[in-house]
Amino acid sequence: MLKIVLTFLYAFSFLFLSAQEVFKNADLSVTRLNERLWVIETTDMTTMYIIEGDDRAMLIDTGTKCEHLDQVVRKITQKPLTVVITHNHRDHAGNIHYFDEVYMHPADSVVPVNIPFDGDYKWMREGDVFDLGGRQIEVYLMPGHTPGSVIFVDRSIQAAFTGDAFGSGQVWLQLKPHVAMTEYFASCVRMEKLMKEQNITKLYVGHYPYLKRPLEINYIIDMKKLAKRLSEGDTAGAKDYPNMGIDIACEKPMIAVNGQAMIVFDSENIN
Ligand SMILES: [Zn+2]
Repeated sequence: MLKIVLTFLYAFSFLFLSAQEVFKNADLSVTRLNERLWVIETTDMTTMYIIEGDDRAMLIDTGTKCEHLDQVVRKITQKPLTVVITHNHRDHAGNIHYFDEVYMHPADSVVPVNIPFDGDYKWMREGDVFDLGGRQIEVYLMPGHTPGSVIFVDRSIQAAFTGDAFGSGQVWLQLKPHVAMTEYFASCVRMEKLMKEQNITKLYVGHYPYLKRPLEINYIIDMKKLAKRLSEGDTAGAKDYPNMGIDIACEKPMIAVNGQAMIVFDSENIN
């Protein structure tokens, strides 16, 4: 009897235990967030997610400091793997060379990054669905942070994986090439509608270590209001923001705040 009880407890332990670290090395740690979802957090604050279906698994983003990322993923799942990137920045696409093919939105092929890759870029677009077996992952284009930033919706857990499309507390729109604030405002409007219509309650962001939790719809509502105000030219209260030596940052970045949301923007070229 005791054996049966222990077996039962073990099998359903994911229901009782919240986040649980399952792997760690010098570069990163892997934490199980629920039964078939893991977050990989690197020591330099980049983030990846692994989602598993009945037939396949998906890796969202490929981080920076992650030697042998392919082998790390294999410690978590042995299922055939689909690799996707939320956008084409170095801290999200840094280790694509460990894989044969990677999915990206074609609008991000204009982002000036030099990431060595001998494999195949596969294009994904709004409306595409990755079927992992009993689990569908839907693609939505949300331009702003980059022209081809996408989010992945997983209705089975009422979640979206948003990369940097809405930031991780603050969204960066000061990097080139970014889109007009009016277009980013439109992305925020669509995101709020999507969350309401599909009952999405959790946003797993692109730099999870800063928050250690998913964000909620109130964050998007704060972001939407701020984007609207800036798109209308109202930059009251905005402050200078450091360039941080980033080669693709604009000349005069500024930061504006509304509630939980912050937007870093190109003060000379908002729209
Ligand atoms: Zn980015």
